[in-house]
Amino acid sequence: MGINSLLDFEIDELTVGERTEFLWGLWRDQLEFALISGTPAIVQIMNDAGLNLGDFKDAEDLTKFPVVTKRKFRELGDGAFLPRKYQDALRDWQEGLEDYERLHVFPRFTGGTSVERLEDYTLIRWSNSDWLGAMQASTRGIKQQDREIVIPANTFVNYTFDHIAAPAFTGVVIYNGGTYVPRHLNLSDRDAFEMLKLKGCDGIISPPASNKLKGNGLLELLQGDNDLDDPYLTRENVSLVIVSSTPLTQEIYDLFAARGIPIKDGGGSTDIGAVMWNCTHDPLKFHTIDGNVLNEVVDRDGNPVDDGESGLFLSSRIAGVKEPDPFLTQLYKDVTAIVAGDYMHQGVARVSRIIGRDVRSLGHDELMAVAIGIEQEYQAASVIVPNQATQLLRYSGLMNETRYLAAEACGCGKTTPKFVGLNRTHDFDGKPEDLVRPRVVVAGVDRPDASGYELGLPDGCEVGDMRGK
Ligand SMILES: [Zn+2]
Repeated sequence: MGINSLLDFEIDELTVGERTEFLWGLWRDQLEFALISGTPAIVQIMNDAGLNLGDFKDAEDLTKFPVVTKRKFRELGDGAFLPRKYQDALRDWQEGLEDYERLHVFPRFTGGTSVERLEDYTLIRWSNSDWLGAMQASTRGIKQQDREIVIPANTFVNYTFDHIAAPAFTGVVIYNGGTYVPRHLNLSDRDAFEMLKLKGCDGIISPPASNKLKGNGLLELLQGDNDLDDPYLTRENVSLVIVSSTPLTQEIYDLFAARGIPIKDGGGSTDIGAVMWNCTHDPLKFHTIDGNVLNEVVDRDGNPVDDGESGLFLSSRIAGVKEPDPFLTQLYKDVTAIVAGDYMHQGVARVSRIIGRDVRSLGHDELMAVAIGIEQEYQAASVIVPNQATQLLRYSGLMNETRYLAAEACGCGKTTPKFVGLNRTHDFDGKPEDLVRPRVVVAGVDRPDASGYELGLPDGCEVGDMRGK
């Protein structure tokens, strides 16, 4: 299919058949990698199920691989999901690993609200290429072809930094050339907003509502923007709000829409990162953003549900990305700018040094030949590789039920399936006081009734009790 980078918008525009072929190929490569690299857990799961690689020949065979529940993950231990090379490398300063294989600086414990015992915490590891794949996919999820969505250059972070959303979302900002201002632990909501203004932040990363495990809420932060004659939160000052973790409501979305500020909501979990992003045309629904992952919604037997049906959300981490080295990347950017007519760019000096001639002296054909050669080299150095670190295939994790809506063309340009209802256990009823403090609407109601989810959960996957939290 020729896709060599998870930044490629084409991934979200594939037909159903093309998508299946693309993702299945990556999934199959991942399984093969996990087995060849001697990942103990994957070897054991295959052996226990009496399966071998030859049983996986085409896309329908995906469902032969048993659903990996949280219980199974804990039982085997998170270390068992690491390829053998990491068992040694972790005791030896990562000696012997290629740069793209090395573990990224953001390992995260997962467990969230269901953690009761120390052993409930499980450690998820990302290699540099795994992480890069996730950052590229999230960049694709945030951007929409039909409207200009500008990733912030200097974003304010309202999350606690031990929550995955902080590194996952600041990672996207950093990947796109920006930086961030973390909220200081001691700041009141009002002072946090003053800090955001003081530092000239042009974006906000925040849970919509406060959660002691996740961070302070967007709504609380908003109270600082109390100068009605000169509000800070306008499109002029803030290009984007990125949220996750607690539900984005229509009320919050509208509040920001009225000020011209888009909100992108990333759905996912610590285990897999943000693997779906909401659509600004349809803000409370998520587009699946596959490529680094393959997302599924299945019934109790692990088979895909039909359009409109609810089921258990599964995700497989199936790919990461090796990027060109920084010098080639810079050269490519410089030449691209020069071809676009940007001769003032300081890249002129860099390119001239590398090609041994003043780039401004080149004729059009000579310049194009140089540019095409560099572009080819750059594209060839972008490679999709299997996910290297924690091997998660058909993993249910802590993500619960969701409703699957089959792929169809959307006004935003994406044609991927959509999801509704992921972890939606809170809601606001739109009254002004609810904009101050979220209210749990499922109090006194069994969660299966509140969510409409009627399927039995596979073993090890429990419905959390959100009451009183
Ligand atoms: Zn859309």
